Amino acid sequence: MDIALVGVGKIALDQHVPAIAASPDWHLAATCSRAGTVPGVPAYTDLDRLLSEHPEIRVVSLCLPPVPRFAYAERAIAAGRHVMLEKPPGATLSECHRLLEMARANGVSLYATWHSQHADMIPAARDWLSDKTVRALHINWREDVRKWHPGQDWCFEPGGMGVFDPGINALSIMTRILPRPVHLTRATLHTPENRQTPITADLTFTDKVTAFFNWDHQGPEFWDITVDTDAGQLTLHEGGARMVIDGETQGSAAGLTGEYPRLYNEMASLVTAGGIDMDLAPLRHVADAFMLGERRTAAPFHW
Ligand code: NAP
Repeated sequence: MDIALVGVGKIALDQHVPAIAASPDWHLAATCSRAGTVPGVPAYTDLDRLLSEHPEIRVVSLCLPPVPRFAYAERAIAAGRHVMLEKPPGATLSECHRLLEMARANGVSLYATWHSQHADMIPAARDWLSDKTVRALHINWREDVRKWHPGQDWCFEPGGMGVFDPGINALSIMTRILPRPVHLTRATLHTPENRQTPITADLTFTDKVTAFFNWDHQGPEFWDITVDTDAGQLTLHEGGARMVIDGETQGSAAGLTGEYPRLYNEMASLVTAGGIDMDLAPLRHVADAFMLGERRTAAPFHW
């Protein structure tokens, strides 16, 4: 299937372009970006022009930051195209619900991707936990924004989500593996005095679920989730790439490897089946944190 990539920046070049190139299902037929291009691929700066000149492109993958993404998604769906959304699927829940209504009304597929849900050990963790009683879960998610989002000021602008940009990856794993849903009861958000979005967040959910997100962390990253159950302790390390149960590392997943190849594989199945997959649970927790969170001011942040 022909596909167009919109928003050719860091994640498009790091992950989407290689995943599409390696897939038997997809052909990158065009890009749309104000400046970014992919060598050898027809490049547009205007999405409407791309869509009208290429009726054969039925699928559009949107890799822009969340705030500008909605307008592109709306236009692609209105033009009858199937749409794949980078995470988070929108800057607000209302936007996401609007896109869902539009996709249903236009009979197109819509896929809110959560790449971390496709890390190697997530299905095995979900299976293992499915018949256990969870006693506590803790998320420890620390990375350096300067390394992973160098110079990307949008992260610190309204709608950019700050530390929830990486933190929502952990929440997408949590919502995927927990056998029963939880909801937020308390949050503390630290926002640099010269920015609009938090750089650290402390979250407390029901059922003894807690999370700590830090985006100003120096040194090696921590992307860990530890779950205490009635039958032992499960820990996911490296964002779900490695799983340890009671001190023993578990075997790795078979089949298609890589989070983004799995996302494109899912999208191919959705389009073929005419399906919609709009999982909004991780974004709901972030919205709750912004509604319920206690605000504290942190030291100014500079790149
Ligand atoms: P980015 O490089 O800053 O942005 C992607 C591209 O979007 C930019 O290169 C820009 O291309 C276009 N863009 C930016 N602002 C725009 C605006 N206001 N209007 C129109 N186009 C605009 O960001 P990214 O790191 O790729 O992240 C994009 C999305 O992917 C985010 O939602 C992020 O959470 C997600 N993601 C990122 C990573 C990562 O490691 N960075 C990992 C997983 C998921 P032009 O200037 O050419 O238009």
